[in-house]
Amino acid sequence: MVIQSLLLGYIALTQTPEAFDQARAWNWLTKQCDLGPRTPGSPAHIKCRDMILEESRKHCARAELQPFRHQRSKTNKDVEMWNVLAFHNWEKAKVRVVLAAHWDTRPSADQENDSKKAAKPIMGANDGASGVAVLLELMRLNKSLPEDIGVCYAFFDGEDLGPELSEMFLGATYYSGHLKPPKPDYGILLDMIGDKDLKVPVEPNSYQKAQKVTVALYRHAKKVGLEKTFPMEYGPEIFDDHLSMNAAGIPTVDLIDFDYEHWHTLEDTVDKCSAESLGKVGKLLDTWLRVTPVWKPK
Ligand SMILES: [Zn+2]
Repeated sequence: MVIQSLLLGYIALTQTPEAFDQARAWNWLTKQCDLGPRTPGSPAHIKCRDMILEESRKHCARAELQPFRHQRSKTNKDVEMWNVLAFHNWEKAKVRVVLAAHWDTRPSADQENDSKKAAKPIMGANDGASGVAVLLELMRLNKSLPEDIGVCYAFFDGEDLGPELSEMFLGATYYSGHLKPPKPDYGILLDMIGDKDLKVPVEPNSYQKAQKVTVALYRHAKKVGLEKTFPMEYGPEIFDDHLSMNAAGIPTVDLIDFDYEHWHTLEDTVDKCSAESLGKVGKLLDTWLRVTPVWKPK
């Protein structure tokens, strides 16, 4: 018995932390899509909210809903939305990072040529489910994160309500306008990172508004052998949830592969995504948090 417990203790001491499991992340992507489109106001939207909250409560010390409303210009009716915010080691940490993704999906497939198709909601396997899937798997690993770092997992609602920009990024804007201390040191936003042919170049707004975070993360990508997926070259300029975070003083980089032919169409489905892509993004973030727990932009 003594030998056995000594042996078990030794194994526990020498165990390397568990790595990001792309199969588990993939499972989260398909689970969200199994609910159907997660359009604000739909039953699937509520189910997805509750699924994210339940999982967050399993792994984080604190997880809560941040409710807000928005009056849609199309119908003049209010739609209820919720950010899901989950905190790990938030109060005690020396450095605090927000890892964000939007969980809502677009109510209209406005990139479809056929008007009947364009009126339907998108599945959002890539544009919605992919970023959430990576965050949910990262959350499972957070028990083995260095103690210096605190993480807020921010699942934003209302990113893709639209159709105009004035009715997008609603959850992130609400979050950024209602920050409670302690304030995050920086943020990393994931959007459309499930594409089979994943390439995430530097997003120009991120470089301009959060240069230190952006450069440090892309340098790290090279160090862990992911420079082909995260090349240090400019991609297209994107309006996304990171803009309100940067405006609120949280330097935030947007990791997005906008080169996706199924964007805002009915074809943004599970078969266009891959577990390997989720695995690459997961590896980038998981290793980043472990290797550089006390890094922050100064
Ligand atoms: Zn979108």
